[in-house]
Amino acid sequence: MAKQKFRTEVSQLLHLIIHSLYSNKEIFLRELISNSSDALDKLRYLSLTDKKYKTIKLDPKISLSFIKSEKENTITISDNGIGMNKEDLVSSLGTIARSGTKKFIEQLTGDSKKDSNLIGQFGVGFYSCYMVADKVEVHTKKALDKKGFLWKSDGKTGFTITEKDKDSHGTTIKVFLNENGTEYANKWSIESVVKKYSDHIAFPIELNYVEEKDKKVENKTEQVNSASAFWKKSKSSLKKKDYNEFYKTLTGDSEDPLFHLHTQAEGNLVYTTLFYLSKKAPFDMFRADYSSNIKLYINRVFITDDDKELMPTYLRFVKGIIDSEDLPLNVSREILQKNQILSKIKTNSTKKILSEFKKMLKKDKKKYIEFYEQYGIPIKEGLYQDFENRDLLLDLVCFKTNQSDEYVTFSEYVENMQKDQKSIYYLTGSKLNELKNSPLLEVCNKNKIQVLLMDHEIDEMTFGSVPKYKDYDLKSINHANALEEIQGEDKEKDSKIDIDPFIKKVKKVLGDKVKDVVTSKRLLDSPTCVVADSNDPTAQMQELFKQMGQAGMPQSKPIFEINPKHKIIKKLSKMNKNKQFDDSVMLLFDQALLVSNIKIDNPGEFINRMNKVLEKSL
Ligand code: ADP
Repeated sequence: MAKQKFRTEVSQLLHLIIHSLYSNKEIFLRELISNSSDALDKLRYLSLTDKKYKTIKLDPKISLSFIKSEKENTITISDNGIGMNKEDLVSSLGTIARSGTKKFIEQLTGDSKKDSNLIGQFGVGFYSCYMVADKVEVHTKKALDKKGFLWKSDGKTGFTITEKDKDSHGTTIKVFLNENGTEYANKWSIESVVKKYSDHIAFPIELNYVEEKDKKVENKTEQVNSASAFWKKSKSSLKKKDYNEFYKTLTGDSEDPLFHLHTQAEGNLVYTTLFYLSKKAPFDMFRADYSSNIKLYINRVFITDDDKELMPTYLRFVKGIIDSEDLPLNVSREILQKNQILSKIKTNSTKKILSEFKKMLKKDKKKYIEFYEQYGIPIKEGLYQDFENRDLLLDLVCFKTNQSDEYVTFSEYVENMQKDQKSIYYLTGSKLNELKNSPLLEVCNKNKIQVLLMDHEIDEMTFGSVPKYKDYDLKSINHANALEEIQGEDKEKDSKIDIDPFIKKVKKVLGDKVKDVVTSKRLLDSPTCVVADSNDPTAQMQELFKQMGQAGMPQSKPIFEINPKHKIIKKLSKMNKNKQFDDSVMLLFDQALLVSNIKIDNPGEFINRMNKVLEKSL
């Protein structure tokens, strides 16, 4: 058969793997064993759920062997799993079939250091064997099929597929080791790599080897993994180190997890869950087509790893396993999704996970912040997705403030509140620095009122629909009247200017650019600012809706606040309404927009006015 070429992405990936994963080349064995284990899982599942496969006698097993001689250095990995037909071979081993790998390719930067970190996050799959091999042969037969096939490739130019009989279904992969790989063609290396990465694979992994004793050659077989479902071991027998190792086998991550949560529920429902968080958020966490990180087992039998319903969407970053004893094995995936037992497990798990996060916050805030910096945004999504757990979720969010760069939770905020303060104040925007320097904060800064600085676009969307934390109102100071409680205290009356006629003139200049022009009680050092009317979305929010294609939303105009005690305003209020007056008002308005990071209508005009002022003052 003519040689088929790899798809370009495959060549690119191969090149990368070979060059950047070198220090970690032993993982090729982990990847091949994990593929075999998946193939065994698939066949076991089919034999339990699909009549056609009932005739197949299951004896799931992975066998390893090696040859080290002058002529040949090889390692062979063999399984009696589902196997592949010709189409499978082309699509699985000749193209980037996995969506994860595709995304991985998209994220490549060309910077080998960054890229090799990325590889750690993804797991590299079958192709990793080319780190240690000149040539690989995959001999395979799909369960229930008659024909077997042999796939061969040097991992550089392409591959060939020929028909070749095979006794039984399953896959045998023969890896022809190059000089970087010869070190693995011995019993000790294979054993130690399997123990390190694949000890918890649920199927027996057997190593076949030859032993010479008293000049007699004996063929021996030894099981090299413990082959138990790790999550079923009693919690008391497991140490943190064990959990960390299992996490690595489960996810392919090279770093320890940030957190694990092992639950063995007995009672009405019998199930086991083992959840983990990786130190770094999954690369696809913010993609609509993110992949599920939960594997579902029924009584230790693998069922699926792509059911996104097993976790609430906002907890999509949680990795791990759910194993239930109460579900029938032969239910279809569609029915599983509506299953009462599963939804109960989901509800319990969600509560448990969130409570664990809360415990982490109480026990070790530093670690919690490490967690929050990775996962804070999806946690906030929870506030509008999961009403039932809103109170718990509200205890998990935290923000930097106008007073400190430390994250403050709502409960900490309330503890440190001024005696007579009744509300919790926050300011939304898109950059922390912009928020810190916002004129909207001036009166709060002066009165030492803490304001939570919410610098992510999700905040306004989320907290707009959260009216209270415990008995305290949540108030956005981007809005008019939010600070009434505080403004009331400001009784200074040193503004001698008659503000009303001035405001009238300003309104004339600004016309329909504003909803209203009012005297500000919140400004101290700045001459002006803009706020949104009490029930209007802020300008930033409107901009966001526009970007999301919701252009039809009615545009609301800002309220322009004026500080009558400011020098500029005092001077301006004495002027007649002429061109210079108009220009100055426009300048002040545009300034107020800019300082709140709101786009101004006409930057060119703004600059012209600005230059006129400069010219005069120089
Ligand atoms: P992944 O395993 O993450 O999907 P790989 O590159 O390791 O990515 O493998 C690609 C695909 O090749 C697998 O998804 C599977 O369909 C197929 N495959 C690989 N090894 C085997 C095997 N031993 N038995 C059956 N199919 C296999």
